[in-house]
Amino acid sequence: MSAGARRVGAEADLASAPAPHLVTEVPGPRARELIERDLRVTSPSLPRAYPLVPARGSGVVLEDVDGNRFLDMNAGIAVTSTGHCHPAVVEAIRRQAGQLLHYSGSDFHLPIYGELCERLAGIVPLRGPARAFLTNSGTEAVEAALKLARYATGRQYVIAFLGAFHGRSYGSISLTASKVRYREGFGPLLPGVFHVPYGDTSEIRERLFRRLVAPREVAAVVVEPVQGEGGYVVPPEGFLRELRALCDEHGILLVADEVQSGMGRTGRMWAVEHWGVEPDILLAGKGIASGMPLGAMVARADLMTWEPGAHGSTYGGNPLACAAALATIDLVERELAANAREVGGVLLEGLRGIAARQPLVREVRGLGLMIGVAFRDHHAAARVEEACFRRGLLVLGCGDDAVRLSPPLVIDGERARVALAVLEEAVAEVAAAG
Ligand code: PLP
Repeated sequence: MSAGARRVGAEADLASAPAPHLVTEVPGPRARELIERDLRVTSPSLPRAYPLVPARGSGVVLEDVDGNRFLDMNAGIAVTSTGHCHPAVVEAIRRQAGQLLHYSGSDFHLPIYGELCERLAGIVPLRGPARAFLTNSGTEAVEAALKLARYATGRQYVIAFLGAFHGRSYGSISLTASKVRYREGFGPLLPGVFHVPYGDTSEIRERLFRRLVAPREVAAVVVEPVQGEGGYVVPPEGFLRELRALCDEHGILLVADEVQSGMGRTGRMWAVEHWGVEPDILLAGKGIASGMPLGAMVARADLMTWEPGAHGSTYGGNPLACAAALATIDLVERELAANAREVGGVLLEGLRGIAARQPLVREVRGLGLMIGVAFRDHHAAARVEEACFRRGLLVLGCGDDAVRLSPPLVIDGERARVALAVLEEAVAEVAAAG
């Protein structure tokens, strides 16, 4: 851990405590009581994966309200990139909270807003200079990109991919195509969106452009460099480069949605860097501020032709979130992307070993600490997720038949090996049950 960012007291104890360590069955009595109250008043649309009731976290350890300690391979859905309550991030938030909680960066010149945009412009692999628009979430970053792409090109159509997840507001859900549940009952969605299979550009060239839409009317192709909710799917080697070439050929903007794959998760700051592809617009969210609500739409400066008032947000780029993001970027640049590469290697190798021993595992795929394990079917994946939870290991389903491992990027090799051992036990239990 970096100098000046040491965990102290109870927080340090939790970060280094053995996990999993369960003191009750899960959920325990306090958790059950809180879940009952929660279910009476919260929106039934919330897709609760399993009955986890977190109380506090430190590093890769999460403790629930009954004092059970979990090894967290979820990071709050790929968000707490620097680990739970990283002292450098907490300190940055604390310092900022003592100075200014809010002033809209939309209507005024909030210094930390500008500082973060400058920082982001310096680290995104876009062609030429960049500018950024800050949001409160990933879905708002997607909305901003859709609006900018239409505005800057004067074109109306957009291409997205089957299996994609880009969020749940109306524009982004119109791009999302991972589960029909996300769309059912909400139509009509945004018109002018075409979906094609992920990992292959031939459908765009041979079907869309020949029969359905003229390429000169397409504003943008929106793509996750590694699909997230759709199953942690790494595309074939040439896919993103082919997309880049196709977009160049027709003046279409390439939008890389790195909300889940960005901020060091795949072992590089941005997943597109694995293939040397430079998008026109890059979207960040989730891990960007270690758990504070923040998203960013970073675009080539020459595309930002929109006029004052064309887009804005009261809260987007809130000072606390910006402070957390600046501290997060420091940590990811300095050590965590490299750690994701290294420990991701340990996990991938271990998982491939498990796959060789357990026919229930169909495929192991991933980059860095963005790892998907696909099982025989959906049922098997759901039971492995549940069996892990009962053992104090937090993993989360994705795609049709997979679970994802997206731990905080601070995880070390030792914790990774513990996770592998617990996962293998869970898989063995599910396999034995048939
Ligand atoms: N884009 C991608 C790739 C995502 O994975 C997500 C969320 O999972 C989003 C966008 C939406 O982000 P948010 O839930 O912060 O709105």
